Amino acid sequence: MQPYDGLECEHCGLFLGSTLGLHGTELCGLCRRASYSFDQARSFAEYDGVLGALIRRFKYDAWFPLAKPLARCLQEASGRFTTGGKSPIQFDLILPVPLHRNRQRKRGFNQAQLLAANLSRLNGVRVGGRDCVRMRDTPPQTGLRGAERRKNVRGAFAVPEPGRVKGASILLIDDVLTTGATLDACAAALREAGAAQVRALTLARARKPQPES
Ligand SMILES: [Zn+2]
Repeated sequence: MQPYDGLECEHCGLFLGSTLGLHGTELCGLCRRASYSFDQARSFAEYDGVLGALIRRFKYDAWFPLAKPLARCLQEASGRFTTGGKSPIQFDLILPVPLHRNRQRKRGFNQAQLLAANLSRLNGVRVGGRDCVRMRDTPPQTGLRGAERRKNVRGAFAVPEPGRVKGASILLIDDVLTTGATLDACAAALREAGAAQVRALTLARARKPQPES
């Protein structure tokens, strides 16, 4: 599997085919107009080919041994976060994007949690427990467009004990980023609870909506 090595939006990490969409800035059109709640997002590669197939095996067929090599992809992609010349990023906490308890019970596991645990073994950053929880079992995002997806997940996350994330530099983990709505809503809850920084890291970036986790 090859990591994406082309141009990406400085803020949200959107893969860009050329500098045309940047209009002389380092930001994609969406980030120039509005800002996500996360400080930055990065993804290992596009959601297709071998990576897409492995993610589907991992998530829908529960091939757990894949968590380890997939976490190595996350570790590699985390090297693409930038700090604007400041010292390297120190993360205090890794948090997987939570599933609602009903969905987790149905699936039996949270794929983001398994990725987070394996990434923690590589970078030594501790994984938080229920620091951020999903309050609403949001309808599947499949088939919804960007604005609808944002509306769908807005307010879906809560931080039960704000003191646990206050002032922390947080690394949010998920398998796939499509519109960024889920990661954005999760980051918004963490920021509201006092997190100092929230960066989002995913294995893949999908152009079209995928079946929901
Ligand atoms: Zn962007």
